[in-house]
Amino acid sequence: MIPVAFDYQRASSVEGALEALAEHGDEAKLMAGGHSLLPMMKLRLAYPSVIVDIGRLEDLSYVRDAGDHLAIGALTRHRDVETASLIAEHAPLLATATANVGDPQVRHRGTIGGSIAHADAAADTPSALLAHGGSVVVRAAGGGERVVDATDLFTGFLESALEEGEMITEVRIPKATGMGWGFEKFNRRAQDWAIVGVSAQRANGSARVALVNMGPTPLRASEVENALAQGANATEAAEYAADGTAPSSDLNASVEYRKHLARVLVKRALMAAGF
Ligand SMILES: Cc1cc2nc3c(=O)[nH]c(=O)nc-3n(C[C@H](O)[C@H](O)[C@H](O)COP(=O)(O)OP(=O)(O)OC[C@H]3O[C@@H](n4cnc5c(N)ncnc54)[C@H](O)[C@@H]3O)c2cc1C
Repeated sequence: MIPVAFDYQRASSVEGALEALAEHGDEAKLMAGGHSLLPMMKLRLAYPSVIVDIGRLEDLSYVRDAGDHLAIGALTRHRDVETASLIAEHAPLLATATANVGDPQVRHRGTIGGSIAHADAAADTPSALLAHGGSVVVRAAGGGERVVDATDLFTGFLESALEEGEMITEVRIPKATGMGWGFEKFNRRAQDWAIVGVSAQRANGSARVALVNMGPTPLRASEVENALAQGANATEAAEYAADGTAPSSDLNASVEYRKHLARVLVKRALMAAGF
C-alpha cells in the first residue's frame, strides 16, 4: 500500500530533530533506519504528517567504553552493534541477539535506538536490553534529559515510556564480562522474526531472563528469575517460563505452542548461561 502524504524534514543535529518534534507534536515521527516505520506507514498503521529523518546523525553512531557500562549511540546500525569488538567483549548476548535481527540488509539500515523505541514484542534487541539490565538516555527540546531503565520502558503494544517530543539518544548496557548468557530464537526460516525467543544473562547465581513474542510487550520471565534466585536448576526454573505471559495465537503458533516453546527455549538458554 502507499502511505498517506507527509512532509519530510532531514535533521542535521540532535537539537534540530528535537525542535522539529517539539514544533509538530504528535503529528511528527522520527525516522532512523525506517525499517519498522515505513512498513507501518504502508500498512497505514502509522500516518505521521511530518517525518523527521535522523538517519544521518553520525554523532549518534558510536560504541564507547564508559567504565562500568557500554554507551551505544541510538543511531548505531544493527550491523555495527553485531560486529563491535567492545560489544563482543562486554555484552556478547546483545551482539548475538543483534546478529539474529532479520537479514543483512535489515541490519545495515536498522538502528538499535529505532528497534528499542519501536517496542515490538517480537523484536530481538529489546529482549537483550532487558536481560542485560540496560537503560536508555532520552532527550527532549530545551535540554531535558532522563535515563529510563529497560524494565520501565515497554508499556504496551508498540508503546514505550517515551513521551511526546522525546528521543532516545543513547543505549547503556552494563558490562557483563565473565558471566554466562544464552540466546535462543525459534523461527521457521532463518532470518524470520522469532515465533518465540529468549535472552538470558547470569549474574552471581541469579539471572535476568527476557522473552520475545510472549505478550504485547517485550517482557521479563519474572517467575523463572525468582525460581533461580531460590536455587532451582535450569530444568526446574524453565517450567515457570510461561507464567505471567500472555502470548497471542497466529498463523505460526497457537498460545499453547508458544508456551511450550518458551519452556523449552528458556531451559536451553539457562543451560547455555551456565545454570
Ligand atoms: C524484513 C524485515 C525483517 C526484520 N526482522 C527483524 C527481526 O528478525 N528481529 C528484529 O528484532 N527486528 C526485525 N526487523 C526490524 C528492524 O530491526 C528495524 O530496523 C527496527 O525494528 C527499527 O529500527 P529502525 O532504525 O529501522 O527504526 P525506524 O523504522 O526508523 O523507527 C521505528 C520507530 O521508532 C521511532 N524511533 C526511531 N529512532 C528513534 C529514536 N532514536 N528515539 C525515539 N524514537 C525513535 C520511530 O519514530 C518509529 O516510531 C525487521 C525489519 C524488516 C523490514
